[in-house]
Order: sequence, then structure tokens, then C-alpha cells
Amino acid sequence: MPRRDEFDLIADLFAPLAGRHPAALNLADDAAVLPPPAEGQHTVVSVDTIVGGVHFLPDDPPDLVARKALRVNLSDMAAMGAEPVGVFLSVALSAAEDDAWMDRFIVGLDHDLGAYGVGLMGGDTVSTPGPASFTITILGQVPPGAYLSRAGGRVGDDLWVSGTLGDSALGLRVLTGTLTLSDKAASDFLCDRYRVPRPRVDLGLALRGVATAALDVSDGLAGDLRHLCRASACGARIETARLPLSDATRYCIESDPALADIALTGGDDYELLFSAPPDQAALVDDIAERLTVPLTRIGCLEGGNGVTVLSGDGGSRLLESFGWRHGW
Ligand code: ADP
Ligand code: MG
Repeated sequence: MPRRDEFDLIADLFAPLAGRHPAALNLADDAAVLPPPAEGQHTVVSVDTIVGGVHFLPDDPPDLVARKALRVNLSDMAAMGAEPVGVFLSVALSAAEDDAWMDRFIVGLDHDLGAYGVGLMGGDTVSTPGPASFTITILGQVPPGAYLSRAGGRVGDDLWVSGTLGDSALGLRVLTGTLTLSDKAASDFLCDRYRVPRPRVDLGLALRGVATAALDVSDGLAGDLRHLCRASACGARIETARLPLSDATRYCIESDPALADIALTGGDDYELLFSAPPDQAALVDDIAERLTVPLTRIGCLEGGNGVTVLSGDGGSRLLESFGWRHGW
């Protein structure tokens, strides 16, 4: 079968997914036409690109690549406390993404667009001599002033994090062959955490009016906490013994002490880190129970501008630069 060209890809694969939102005009026109936002809502916009060999691996299942591309964007909406509405998808395809690969990509995309109730509103389709990349621009909505900022944290606030940390970074090591686990279930769990992030969209919505500052942990807790501290003009203190770990990650750390900091420095967690006044703790616990999302208090905001990490043995470290930065 000859390979689909750009127009076949749009008509055969993308247009059927665009029916969920009338703004897409079934991808049969030059652009989408959006109605004004719902009464009393502001539009929240973010864009994220994933690149083959950097954010996904060449042999990752194509449906999971699509889901990850969408989910990292949904995580930004979660971090803003915004309700996702629709996405624009720009694909740059290399020779490796043949028709069979794209068919599977579409299955994953369709699945998660439906699961999160977001419409495909438009995009662009090009070929590239380099690795494939997928860029999603996401639109969301939030009442004026209700968005979660990185900047509202106050000295004395508790620091909370959702889910567990470090799983995804370990999953990447398993997938690239630098970590081998004898326990297949644990290994599969970690790989899944790397490939399919769980954006905390409902949690972001529930934290409106509760969290004083929030962001999603994508580059490692320590580095992202520094972003929150810088924006909120304060320091922080966290306790390593409180960091939420899955059984699989706990096992990895016990087996190899060199992995002790993985929950602090590993990337791709896509959990929410947020601050809230201590008198909101019971409310945060209620949200955790209602959404069945684990929420763990890991420390607090304090004066100064450093992040102090207290370890289980009573030692403390002042973090300088941790977390992942793209090098150029
Ligand atoms: P133009 O040549 O004017 O840029 P295109 O042929 O690129 O138009 O796009 C035609 C329509 O298909 C537009 O509505 C565009 O938003 C949509 N489209 C193109 N590529 C994609 C894609 N990968 N995903 C979703 N919509 C797409
Ligand atoms: Mg175009």
C-alpha cells in the first residue's frame, strides 16, 4: 500500500477525530473557528513538543507516544487549575512513521481525547529528515483569577505532592537498558509510568482556591520546587523520608543506594506540587480521598531562597542545581 500523503493523513486519520468539536470545521478548512469562551471564563493556552529520542524512544508503542504527547499538555492544564477544552496537533514525521505506525498513533490519540473530553481542533502535518516530533497546543478555561500560579506561595505554607515520585525516571532506565529488575511486575509498572503519565487534571480543578501556588513536576522535584520558590520569593524545606515512593521505586533504592535521590531529581513525574496554608490540610486530605489521589505533605515553605533537604539520618543539604535542563 502506498504511503499516505499529507492530505490523506488529515482526511483519513485526523478529521475523524475532529468531529468532537465543531470549532474544527472537520479539518476541511484552513483554520479552526472558536466561539467566544463560556461566560466568565478566561482561555488558558500552553504548548509542548515531544521529540523522538528525547521524550520518547524510537521503539515506544505509537499509541503510547500519542497519549504521552497529549498527557504532558494536559498536565500543564492541571498545573494551572484549568479545564482542558481542545488541542491543535502539529506532527513532523520521519520515514520511520509509516502508515501502520500512524494507525496505531491515532488509536492512542482517539482514546485519550475521549478519556479527557478534549477536541482535536486543527494542526499541521509535515515531513522531516530528523526524528519525528509531535507538538500539541492545548486550550483550557478557568474563571478569571482562579488559575493556579507558581507565585502565590507564602512562608509557613505546607508543601504537598500528588502520587509517587521517581517511577518514571526509573522506567526510562529500564527501557534504555541501564537498569534491570528481576521483578517483571515492578519493571512493567515503572515503564508504564514513563510512557503514560497521569495528568492530575481533576486535582488541579479541586485545588482552585485551596493551593496558594502549584506546578507540575516534569523536570524533577528539586528543580521544580526551586521554580516555585523563585516565583513565590521564598525558600523551602522538605524531608526525604516523606517523599512518596511506589513499592517498585522503594525496592530499587534499597537495592542500589546510588538511586537514593531518584525521587528528588528524576524527571517526567507529571505530578502536582503545591503549597497550601496549614489550616487547609484537612481540606487537602478530603480532596485526596474524594479523588482517590494520594496527596503527601513533604515539607513547607520558609524564609530565604534555598531548598533545604532533610534526610532521614538527621543530615541536611542545601540544594544548588538539581533537575533536568535541556542542553543546546
Ligand atoms: P494549510 O495548507 O492551509 O496550512 P493544511 O492543509 O495544513 O492547511 O490543513 C488543513 C486543515 O487540516 C486545517 O484545518 C488544519 O488545522 C488541519 N490539520 C492539518 N494537520 C493536522 C493534524 N496533524 N492534526 C489536526 N488537524 C490538522
Ligand atoms: Mg498547514
